[in-house]
Amino acid sequence: MGIVRTIAIVVLSISFVVFVALFGRLPAFRRTPIAFLHRLLWVYIPNAFGALDERLTGRRVFFVALQFIGEILFIPAAWNRLSFLQLAVLPPLIVAPLWFLYLSNVTSSNITPQNHRAAMVAYPYDFALFHPGYFCSTCHFAKPARSKHCSICKACVQKQDHHCIWINNCVGRNNYIWFNALLVSIATLLFYGSWLGWGLLDQRLQDRLVPPALTRGSLTSKRWSTRLDWGEYFHAWAWAIAVEWRIGAVMMLAMMCIPLSLGFLVYHLYLIWAGMTTNESAKWSDWKEDIADRVVFRAEMKTLRETFPALPEDVEPRERDVRWPAGVRAKWWLVRTRDGEQPRMTVRSRRTENGHAGSNHGKGTREEEVPDERWERVTSIAQVENIYDLGFWDNLVDGLSNRG
Ligand SMILES: [Zn+2]
Ligand SMILES: [Zn+2]
Repeated sequence: MGIVRTIAIVVLSISFVVFVALFGRLPAFRRTPIAFLHRLLWVYIPNAFGALDERLTGRRVFFVALQFIGEILFIPAAWNRLSFLQLAVLPPLIVAPLWFLYLSNVTSSNITPQNHRAAMVAYPYDFALFHPGYFCSTCHFAKPARSKHCSICKACVQKQDHHCIWINNCVGRNNYIWFNALLVSIATLLFYGSWLGWGLLDQRLQDRLVPPALTRGSLTSKRWSTRLDWGEYFHAWAWAIAVEWRIGAVMMLAMMCIPLSLGFLVYHLYLIWAGMTTNESAKWSDWKEDIADRVVFRAEMKTLRETFPALPEDVEPRERDVRWPAGVRAKWWLVRTRDGEQPRMTVRSRRTENGHAGSNHGKGTREEEVPDERWERVTSIAQVENIYDLGFWDNLVDGLSNRG
């Protein structure tokens, strides 16, 4: 019963945290505890850790320090009771997060004058989240599709995902692979540490509550947790954690960090599945709300091109130069209007003979604003295509291998 109960509690808590991490931002949860927990998870806890980090360690080594302290407490206390295999797995599991943290930190996705052209042709403009013709006022160049200026890194970042305080760098096109490897390696280390600690404490409880002398010669070995009620069960664990405080403390810390690390990992798997960056997912949420407010219109690219021809090639690269599957280009041009009215166009018409329609009494043509019938109202996000979504596997390949 003990194991089933523990697993049930762990699985339920993980599922709940993952649910909050993924869906807590949905409008349906606004002004509910779910939305608060979502902010707690994504804003308050990271900020608190960041502030603590700044106060305690100057900056950014808090994570490394935490890992070292945990290992210094845990490993000597557990050393004699672990098998050779259990110990042999430890060095790579300990080194991996540090190595990936280092790579995430030193791998830059910043756009420089040297790599600007390559960044421009890495992704096509989707004419929804990213339109050509916008310039970064700080970097003084055209903003490539999927890029974003980061005020902390003081640069425009290719395929900017978010600025991560843990790696003290932006997560972007070039280090996305290392960032995800970091998430996987942290989750693995936390699971392994929790599992080792749990096994050691469980053995300690078994030795204490069911001494081997009692079960000697009996065919059924009795588990210590059999026939304990909840109170006794937690009491037993509290005792084990207290007497084995070095293992117990590290195990509890690892278990508490598992939902957070798993939440991030699952969230990034979801982003890969959806073909989005964190930055783009926020933009899509805004579009969804604007569509619900009925202020979004779309027009077919090819009909709009009659009035809006392509910009110069260094601002809007030609389609053949963009390194993205040939058929996958923006079909729709998306706009939001301030008043929710259909975009208008100016037409020039010949002034009628007696000028009855307007106050224009001169000769020649007059200008008139009329609704532009090429634009139709968007009523559902399903009418909008995410051209950066090629399907899970291709998104994965793009995220891990399409690096500048
Ligand atoms: Zn910039
Ligand atoms: Zn940044």
